[in-house]
Amino acid sequence: MAKTLEEVQKELGECTRCELCETRTTIVFGVGNPHAEIMFIGEAPGKQEDLGAEPFIGAAGKYLNELLAIAGLERKDVYIANVLKCRPPGNADPLPHQIEVCTPFLREQVRAIAPLVLVTLGRFASQFILKTDAGISHLRGKVHITGRYSVLPIFHPAAAIYDRSKRPILEQDFELLRLLIEKRHEELGTRQ
Ligand code: URA
Repeated sequence: MAKTLEEVQKELGECTRCELCETRTTIVFGVGNPHAEIMFIGEAPGKQEDLGAEPFIGAAGKYLNELLAIAGLERKDVYIANVLKCRPPGNADPLPHQIEVCTPFLREQVRAIAPLVLVTLGRFASQFILKTDAGISHLRGKVHITGRYSVLPIFHPAAAIYDRSKRPILEQDFELLRLLIEKRHEELGTRQ
């Protein structure tokens, strides 16, 4: 049986499984509806998240909130977590050994929430969930099925802050998310 989010968080404790514990301010476990149909998975906490103990509360988070509205969602409807729960100094890319020790907890969070759709934000989350080395440009904009989950990989919202040409693509992918949610409800006979 799946653990509850509280049980997963308790097991994580004041984690010292990798060196990021030495530089983090807080562990950023995850936030949102524990019964969410849609779960978002980002890369790792940034500076604001490290201070605020909540994923996506900085600039990328503000843009994510705008994108959610395109899919007819609000932040309180969804659950948001990251591949890593602690901030890599200087927002460095997650390292393989950090991903290895941290992601068992992410897996347990996914099991606890059992969402209909997993939206993976950027390369690290998409490659981890889909167990692939393919790049995000190749993976994005298509629905992938893995086990019982529909997975929609999309560009990381932070990428569209620096490169505005990515915005229309992200917005298109959130339209796709809206359609995917409708389709999953139709399949399940749970039309909203
Ligand atoms: N970027 C991420 O991938 N996650 C956050 O929580 C914030 C920024």
